[in-house]
Amino acid sequence: MSNIMKIIFGLILFFCFVTKARALECTSSQYLVQSHFRKAYVRSDGTHVSSSQVKAHCKELTRELIFLKDRFKNGIPQDWPHRKEISKKWTESEKQRIIEAVATFPEDIIRDSIEGLYRLNKSKDYPNPATSSDKVITIYDSAFDPNRNISRILAHEFLHHAYRDLAEKNRQDYRRATGWRLELEKDGKIYWVGRESGYVEEDGKLSHEEDFANNVEHFLYDSDKLRKVTPAAYEWIKKHYGEQFKLKEIKK
Ligand SMILES: [Zn+2]
Repeated sequence: MSNIMKIIFGLILFFCFVTKARALECTSSQYLVQSHFRKAYVRSDGTHVSSSQVKAHCKELTRELIFLKDRFKNGIPQDWPHRKEISKKWTESEKQRIIEAVATFPEDIIRDSIEGLYRLNKSKDYPNPATSSDKVITIYDSAFDPNRNISRILAHEFLHHAYRDLAEKNRQDYRRATGWRLELEKDGKIYWVGRESGYVEEDGKLSHEEDFANNVEHFLYDSDKLRKVTPAAYEWIKKHYGEQFKLKEIKK
């Protein structure tokens, strides 16, 4: 190739690149969806979403995008105690699944106290799909397994934060209504002890916070079970959060 041809060829490449880069610039009121391959999946409401090659595009900022756009974090959360858990980079397709899930959440559970969502490979408690610590949520590979419900998994973690954000008098009221009490044990220490029975998930016995996250998760995703197994929790949630407290439908 002659030098002139090389220069012309180089210039064509350069202009293609510039044009493409320009087309992908979004305004501050928009979110850039990177081009990605979307695998087929089933939404929590049972809708099948087919696989597709999604082109890069700008999306107007919605409630969930405003919340999430700066909360997808790469790397390991600060002072993360589980040394063997390794960070992964979020893929655009995973981000889209999270965005779609948060779009369905009622306002009360979208908490500003959640500072970041981290993507790690595998929980030390595999197949645990997600974990919450003080200010962050970690999401593991298993959360995206086809047989798992990412929306429900994420709602559960958000609910840990929602419980901590409740006013102390409301937490007390929840505990009283659902049979949690303080008891002096043989070792001379005082512990929280849960009700005898009536748990939608076994691990609810471990703490009132876990119990709360399980119960509200069921209120949103499997209310029949909650009404049957823990009616006192069902009534408390309905009274505390009001009639509007339910999952929103995805508009598409
Ligand atoms: Zn939990």
